[in-house]
Amino acid sequence: MVKEILPGIFQMQVPLPKSPLKATNSYVILDHSRPLVIDTAFNRPECHETFLLLLKEIGLTPEAVDFFITHLHADHLGLAVALARDGTTIYFNEPDLPLARPAKSYWERMGRIYEQHGLPLQDSLEAITRHPGRIYGPQMDFPYTIVRDGDVLHRGPYSLRCVQTPGHTPGHMCLLVEGHDVLFCGDHMLGDITPNITMWVEMADPLGRYLESLDKVMRLRLRRVLTGHRSAIEDSEGRIRELKAHHEHRLQEVIAALQDGEKDAATITPLITWDLRYDFWEDVHPVQKLFATGETIAHIQHLEATGIVQSTLRDGRILHNLAED
Ligand SMILES: [Zn+2]
Repeated sequence: MVKEILPGIFQMQVPLPKSPLKATNSYVILDHSRPLVIDTAFNRPECHETFLLLLKEIGLTPEAVDFFITHLHADHLGLAVALARDGTTIYFNEPDLPLARPAKSYWERMGRIYEQHGLPLQDSLEAITRHPGRIYGPQMDFPYTIVRDGDVLHRGPYSLRCVQTPGHTPGHMCLLVEGHDVLFCGDHMLGDITPNITMWVEMADPLGRYLESLDKVMRLRLRRVLTGHRSAIEDSEGRIRELKAHHEHRLQEVIAALQDGEKDAATITPLITWDLRYDFWEDVHPVQKLFATGETIAHIQHLEATGIVQSTLRDGRILHNLAED
């Protein structure tokens, strides 16, 4: 589906097969020289075919366009490299760059870190094998053009300012349509689901960084937020307050889980409320378990950064306790 959302700016919804996210919203800004496409979809044949058809509806071909990718996740970056031709520019942020196409050793290292947090190595390696980010990412390296916070791109009548919002990924980058109070926000904010905030080797206290990034976007006083999935957000300030309350609630759940003593992240995770359907935690899909544990770790790390929780490594396991007053 294609719709014009501002003069010369189109939204294309690219379905993501078997994904609860349903589709990625890709945006196209027309320009007499090089139109700009913001975000793509998974690098898989179904997405590729649809993407070409949607571009054609706007009268464009991949040869004619450049790309701006908000963050490293495969449902945004995956297809860009496959669509790129000679002379294509793909704008991308620097902190996410080493993670655009991680080596096998990176995933093994992540598996061992999750093992220290209490997830059996076999389970996390199995989850990683099925992880869409590993399967549908770019199949080759690319000479990305690095953009930094405050950089401005010009397309058609629009000035587009890069607004870095670390948290969802280490270098997540939004794009502000200056003078229109409209933000292309990737996965920094979503309307009816909460963006995943997880642990990163590359970023200390990701939740702390994310909450700071929400404050940064609050200061932009936006009229409209164009999200990477599902519907746009019309009340940006209200949504920011909801997202902050969501994380505050989850932080309180982690504190409550530690009231009766020391635990690792994998033990705390089933004690937290998740938006998942299950009767027994053992039945939850390994990929969902990995995501949930990553999210728990990010919350624990924030409690650690704010002095509420203490963590110790003992016999290869990372254990958490409420800090003494
Ligand atoms: Zn994402």
